[in-house]
Amino acid sequence: MPASVYIHFPFCLRKCVYCDFCSVVYDEDLKKRYLGALLKEMETTPYAGSIETLYIGGGTPSLLAPSEAEALINKIEQKYTLASHAEVSLEVNPGTVDLQKVKALRSAGINRLSIGVQSMDPAELKLLGRVHDDVDSRNVLEWTGRYFDNFSVDIIYGIPGQEVSGLKESLEEVLSYSPPHVSAYELTAEEGTPLYRMLSEGRLRLPDDDDKIAMYELLSDILVKKGYLHYEISNYSRRGRQCRHNMNYWLRGEYLGFGAAAHAFVGNTRMRNTAEIPEYIRMIELNGSAVIEELPLTSADKDREEIFLGLRTETGIRADKVYGARDRIRLLAEEGLVLEKDGFVRLTEKGMLLSNRVIVEMIDAAENEAAGSG
Ligand code: SF4
Repeated sequence: MPASVYIHFPFCLRKCVYCDFCSVVYDEDLKKRYLGALLKEMETTPYAGSIETLYIGGGTPSLLAPSEAEALINKIEQKYTLASHAEVSLEVNPGTVDLQKVKALRSAGINRLSIGVQSMDPAELKLLGRVHDDVDSRNVLEWTGRYFDNFSVDIIYGIPGQEVSGLKESLEEVLSYSPPHVSAYELTAEEGTPLYRMLSEGRLRLPDDDDKIAMYELLSDILVKKGYLHYEISNYSRRGRQCRHNMNYWLRGEYLGFGAAAHAFVGNTRMRNTAEIPEYIRMIELNGSAVIEELPLTSADKDREEIFLGLRTETGIRADKVYGARDRIRLLAEEGLVLEKDGFVRLTEKGMLLSNRVIVEMIDAAENEAAGSG
């Protein structure tokens, strides 16, 4: 039985310039119909059982009224058993909440906020097209500290014009609010976004690779020195405050997904809902399901997933799972990119920085060996 549930809320006040997530500009009527469809989708899903983590992501789920968030949680509680110690997260855009709302979300049953601060530099936030500014973030961080003992802050690095010293200032200010968890993502220019266009036209320039490496190292240095565990490539936490919902993904646990573009993994099959919001509503109203793709995993798919998901985490992957890649592991270890210890292979800090290359090489080596011996 899936232990985790993801609910997608695909509405935002406006699109950020770098965003290629499934989200559209907020529309009250469309939102109402969407919420109706979400409740129906949850009602008609064939699964039942105990839920350990619930994550309401988006989009901007902090645009939900607390009563709407509560209705979603209640539906989960009716249909499943929400464990008493369940982690119940909601993503917050700092430009969309006030003190009363932060308090009301806690009362509605949310026990973890994931706050999209991104930067404390107002010019960087403006460039990213965020609806919030640094003052909004300071307020939300302060209010969150009053009502939530568990919360996370998202930071973006590699912003055009950003310098290592600017990132350091943003991070240090964020850390002054003692977040139990920090996620740090490199800004990527996805095709089709305004950011991609501005970069292609030469109107903006990303920091060069050396600066991006220096930024990654700075984040890691500061956070690790302050006692955070670097428990996944982009994630740091106080001990015991790892995001249990995301850990379930990386450990290949089963999960359900509700809403447009939501994914699910049940019974060795990965499933995906349509990302078109009107089509999602239509499909749910028609037959209670909006799944447009079902992908049963072969044993080769499973092996590949175990490597690329496991290597993202601090634990790494059992050495016998990548036995076929042992020569490559030795070479990568000589480069200081992986470490083999106590029967596990894991990425070093340098390996995490170059994770794309290392993971591809490990998968290739393991698969070539399997093909050769088969
Ligand atoms: S708030 Fe998040 S989901 Fe919404 S447009 Fe910005 S990046 Fe995209």
